[in-house]
Amino acid sequence: MSKPSILRIAIPSPLRRSFDYLPPEQDGAAPQSGVRIKVPFGKRTVIGILLEFVTESTIPVRRLKRVIEILDEEPVLPPDLLTLLNWGSRYYHHPVGEVLMGALPLLLREGKPALLPGNHIWQLTEAGKTVTTNELSRAPRQRVLLSMLKEHTGGLHTRQLNQHQQNWQPVMKKLKEKGWVQCIESSFLPARAESLSSTAEHRPILNQAQQAAVDSVLESAGRFSVLLLDGVTGSGKTEVYLQIIEQVISSGKQAMVLVPEIALTPQLLDRFLQRFPRPVALLHSSLSSRERLAAWLGSRSGEAAIIIGTRSALFTPVKNLGIIIVDEEHDTSFKQQEGFRYSARDMAIIRARNANVPIVLGSATPSLESLYNAQQKRYLHLSLPERAGGAQPPTFRLLDLRRQPLQEGLSPELLGIMEQHLQTDGQILLFLNRRGFAPTLLCHECGWVGRCRRCDTHLTFHQRERRLRCHHCGAERPVDPRCPDCGSIDLRALGAGTERIEQALQQHFPGIGVARLDRDSTRRKGSMQNVLNEVQQGHKRILIGTQMLAKGHHFPNVTLVGILDTDQGLFSADFRASERMSQLITQVAGRAGRAEKPGLVVIQTNHPEHPLLQQLITHGYQQFANTALKERQEAELPPCCSIALLRAEATAAEKSLDFLRQALQTAAPFNSGEVFLLGPVPAPMEKRAGRYRAQLLLQSASRAALHRLLDQWMPQLETLKSGRKVRWSLDVDPVDLF
Ligand code: ADP
Ligand code: ZN
Ligand code: ZN
Repeated sequence: MSKPSILRIAIPSPLRRSFDYLPPEQDGAAPQSGVRIKVPFGKRTVIGILLEFVTESTIPVRRLKRVIEILDEEPVLPPDLLTLLNWGSRYYHHPVGEVLMGALPLLLREGKPALLPGNHIWQLTEAGKTVTTNELSRAPRQRVLLSMLKEHTGGLHTRQLNQHQQNWQPVMKKLKEKGWVQCIESSFLPARAESLSSTAEHRPILNQAQQAAVDSVLESAGRFSVLLLDGVTGSGKTEVYLQIIEQVISSGKQAMVLVPEIALTPQLLDRFLQRFPRPVALLHSSLSSRERLAAWLGSRSGEAAIIIGTRSALFTPVKNLGIIIVDEEHDTSFKQQEGFRYSARDMAIIRARNANVPIVLGSATPSLESLYNAQQKRYLHLSLPERAGGAQPPTFRLLDLRRQPLQEGLSPELLGIMEQHLQTDGQILLFLNRRGFAPTLLCHECGWVGRCRRCDTHLTFHQRERRLRCHHCGAERPVDPRCPDCGSIDLRALGAGTERIEQALQQHFPGIGVARLDRDSTRRKGSMQNVLNEVQQGHKRILIGTQMLAKGHHFPNVTLVGILDTDQGLFSADFRASERMSQLITQVAGRAGRAEKPGLVVIQTNHPEHPLLQQLITHGYQQFANTALKERQEAELPPCCSIALLRAEATAAEKSLDFLRQALQTAAPFNSGEVFLLGPVPAPMEKRAGRYRAQLLLQSASRAALHRLLDQWMPQLETLKSGRKVRWSLDVDPVDLF
């Protein structure tokens, strides 16, 4: 008797393992790896993913349960994605079931079929086109349909047919039986009509550096290679992407473009749709689940020539992948900060390697990780040192805030410069990374300060809604007119957030439109686009915003950028703070003077002599990055070493620390001495959302040694009793240490 075949299945559960099942009772074609399967799991029925067939299980065969139902014929995770996600599960030490199921669109996770019904287009076949309506004189309803189809050469959508004809289906079926019409799956994907395609001829002629970049990438077509496109803001990186994509898709392949969460503006989509008359699959967090499935299907079938999306779009099946582009590769939103803590940029490189295609990492402020890899010759470094189309780089000026009377966070000098720019018809961007009206509400009588009960932090005062909000846990409450401690009505808002600056500007510059771009002003769907449009069209001449401003917007009329507060970034405990701040300043500054008018960037600071600021404004990001890399090397910090962070949180501080202390002991036997374990220590913000947090840092010059330790250590951690009293997680290559 041959051995029974056993199905090894990944099931979403916190356990870092897969599960074995027997095949279904009735014989059918053997399912392929990557299909969804419904199985009994404890007392529940759950959906998992078939990993492989095996002949032996550690569990006796008679105790194995049978699967209930196989949900797919075609795998929802084709072999290349299974390989990628398995890699991710091992590298980030996250349970494989959660990784695989988490990669699917919601409707598929829920077990819905991998198709969207009722979305077809009916077209005449070649034979159908030769038929004259006269031939159907005795079948009037068929004749009506036929003539409608003749009018609409592109075909008729189910929706259109429903509007025009009742009960058209049986009639259409007759036409189909005669071989006169065919039915094709229609797209849900945005695409521009074919007839407008001539704008491709209006694309700019690339400058030398751009052309060299395009050539290098295309030379790598058909094989794996990582190219770092390091181009100053406005240097025409997007134009380089577009021309590469044009070549890739004309060879019949698909292009995947990953962008940071916030950068996915309709502006960017329009740029793609205008250039290519081809369907684009768009995947981001504010899609309906149906839209997401549609984009997913369009990518899998090969219909979408271009797949554009944020982080998780990386896990979309692509029929014929030709290239991956990661725009603004330095952006930390590519790293997922909870659950499966993967870096979409890093996994995109793995995907490109597995698929043997080139990958382009683009940025005006590349991460030190990528610059380091380029120095080590692992990546090809392409640079675009100048702005495209003749625009000049902006000039910088530091404004010393010391001894200056501030008016709601704005210095008189800055207000004066703004006045000048408004008089010469310029537009102004002001950047402040703090939303709300004021970061602190204080009682002037007794010193009471609004604090979050669940976090080690102040509550931010939002004046318009008269509410106090915690920006860390989301807790909020209305503002009492009186101090809760002493009853005084002398409550004062200290410091300034974007809401306060907006108000101050409206008073200072009456009649000049002021707009605000932050998470509060863009909560409603479409409101972000409204704000951007108003600025683009010049109705609003001053725009105040948070880091949302930094991402890729193109405002040709902006001549002045003001950075209101940099000092937070200069003195932070996080070793990456200076990198972040330099990126932010450079990106925000890059919004100035992008067209004919030159740009000025004014930075308000209490530390104008700070070497970091000095270096950044006189020599630019690249010089800063070189210095910072040397410092990292000396301090043995990433990217010159590998780190991982074990975090724990619990309702009592001791519980988190206890677990981490035990974890530390457990690690000892697996450590060859190449990995340093530092801690445990309380997290920089210890209490958050009612939980006390602590962490243990692992650091090694050898990535391999670090992962060898993790491989042996993680299964042990799962068995620790103290681990049941806390929530703990491992973060491999963490982007922040909080
Ligand atoms: P980046 O993505 O580097 O910020 P973009 O691709 O958005 O830069 O280009 C900035 C501006 O310059 C855009 O308006 C773009 O149309 C224009 N541009 C890009 N390349 C060229 C070129 N070779 N000649 C003229 N204009 C160009
Ligand atoms: Zn008081
Ligand atoms: Zn809070």
